[in-house]
Amino acid sequence: MKAFTYVNPANEKDAVAALAPEFEKAVPIGGGQDLLARMKDYVTQPDRLVNVKSLDATVTAAGGGLKIGAAMKMVDLAEHAQVEKMYPAISAAAIEVGTPQIRNQGTVGGNLNQRPRCWYFRNEEFVCFKKGGTTCFSPSGENQFHAIFGGGPSYIVHPSSLAVPMVAYGATFRLLGPKGERMVPAAEYFTMPTLQNVRTENVLAPDEILTHVVLPAPGNVKTGHYEVRYKESHDWPIAFATVVLTMNGANVASARVVMGAVAPIPWRSQAAEQALSGKPVTEQTASAAADAALRDARPMSQNAYKVQVAKTAVKRAILRAAGVQTA
Ligand SMILES: Cc1cc2nc3c(=O)[nH]c(=O)nc-3n(C[C@H](O)[C@H](O)[C@H](O)COP(=O)(O)OP(=O)(O)OC[C@H]3O[C@@H](n4cnc5c(N)ncnc54)[C@H](O)[C@@H]3O)c2cc1C
Repeated sequence: MKAFTYVNPANEKDAVAALAPEFEKAVPIGGGQDLLARMKDYVTQPDRLVNVKSLDATVTAAGGGLKIGAAMKMVDLAEHAQVEKMYPAISAAAIEVGTPQIRNQGTVGGNLNQRPRCWYFRNEEFVCFKKGGTTCFSPSGENQFHAIFGGGPSYIVHPSSLAVPMVAYGATFRLLGPKGERMVPAAEYFTMPTLQNVRTENVLAPDEILTHVVLPAPGNVKTGHYEVRYKESHDWPIAFATVVLTMNGANVASARVVMGAVAPIPWRSQAAEQALSGKPVTEQTASAAADAALRDARPMSQNAYKVQVAKTAVKRAILRAAGVQTA
């Protein structure tokens, strides 16, 4: 690993000041589980690490919703009673992340900003788009776990389990930089790759940090979250979905259907949402919505199986939201 300096800022302003570009290449570090692994693999080589895990790690009430400090550990998020009561999909996503050790060390900010797990990105020998190269190796290579939506130019899937319920609940992220704070809706924070921005996955500037997640009052909604994995622990999901339903009696008044691990961003399906609108939730309507969610999927040579897996995740998340227990 390349040598680096370590800064322990006293507060968020000092953290931002320590990231200023006039210094060496500096990056924030939370629990370090993603960043240190990339540094050991020579994929990321910063000169300075700025510790942000001692910043705000609390949950406070905010306008009928909750404000979560980005330094909060995943385990504390998963076990937070108020979060579980108001935003059950966030707790469900947090509790399924990795292993107890990973949740004990990982932070909310680190989880939302972790870099892709693509094996080409993680191998220093492959200079892909994300490392300044001119290609994505997955379409003609090993693409079992890659995107089925989006159409490139990079085919990563976003690795954060928390990002999906954050988009589904309409969260806003507070970012702090040298010019002050800005509030960015989660749905606009994560960015689809273009040839111009392909090296990053979000709108965060190099001298900014994510300090808080602000969740709006949930209202009278029903939520379902469903993840499909190869194994119960120690792995990322193959595909998953968060569904938030607003009901009008027995019928769905409006829905938010967001899928994870299928695209470079949390992938919202308006087709599925429209398919549910005005209907009761039954096996048939849930299946029809799941079919609609995956209609535009474009799998590559080795990941067509993800279409059915994602369909199942969407259907079961809808049924869970409506209170129908699934396997
Ligand atoms: C075996 C295994 C299984 C896993 N399974 C899952 C899973 O199912 N779902 C899932 O979501 N994750 C999973 N993970 C990933 C794990 O959850 C993340 O690596 C972890 O949450 C990252 O948190 P951290 O605080 O350690 O991040 P760090 O490594 O400290 O940071 C990650 C990135 O975020 C940046 N960063 C950190 N904090 C901030 C901030 N406040 N503002 C701006 N940028 C910041 C860092 O610069 C870095 O680039 C798994 C990991 C392993 C090893």
